[in-house]
Amino acid sequence: MLCNDVRTRIDAGEPLDADLLSHLTSCSSCGQEFAFLTALRASTPTPSPELRTRVLAGRPRHFRSFAIAAAILLAAALGFVGGHFARPAPEVKVVPVQTARTPTEEEDRRQLSVIGYGLKGLYHNAVEVSFNGNQVTHIQATNELERRNPTCPVLKEARKFSERRPDLIAWR
Ligand SMILES: [Zn+2]
Repeated sequence: MLCNDVRTRIDAGEPLDADLLSHLTSCSSCGQEFAFLTALRASTPTPSPELRTRVLAGRPRHFRSFAIAAAILLAAALGFVGGHFARPAPEVKVVPVQTARTPTEEEDRRQLSVIGYGLKGLYHNAVEVSFNGNQVTHIQATNELERRNPTCPVLKEARKFSERRPDLIAWR
């Protein structure tokens, strides 16, 4: 399968079948572009009760990032790219754990990557995402994109994040 076919099929909202999935896992450029799809596919539809408890309790630090990432991915899947998935939507809410502490630079970078991959997967060239290897280094989104997609959870997350880190996400 060619990269163009993959893009066309994903844009058309076709389900992730074995052909698509095998291309996404073997082609690094498509794998990167559609990382949010493979991440969703890999995540179990219902988190284990134990994981859920730990996420909600907000104990270890990395679970906080996980919860934010999971919330973005789930929100994106349920509210926005639902057509990409044959599976029925899971009836689980992953609640991001809020803490008063300011996130570390590393956590911000990780969240930037999640948002960057999400936006790239949803809006392709309508958003400028700069990469250094697999890491997202900067995002430039447009107010116009936000106006046209007022309910998009990934754009909302990007807006919220950019208020704290205008050096990492810019709007024009
Ligand atoms: Zn490809």
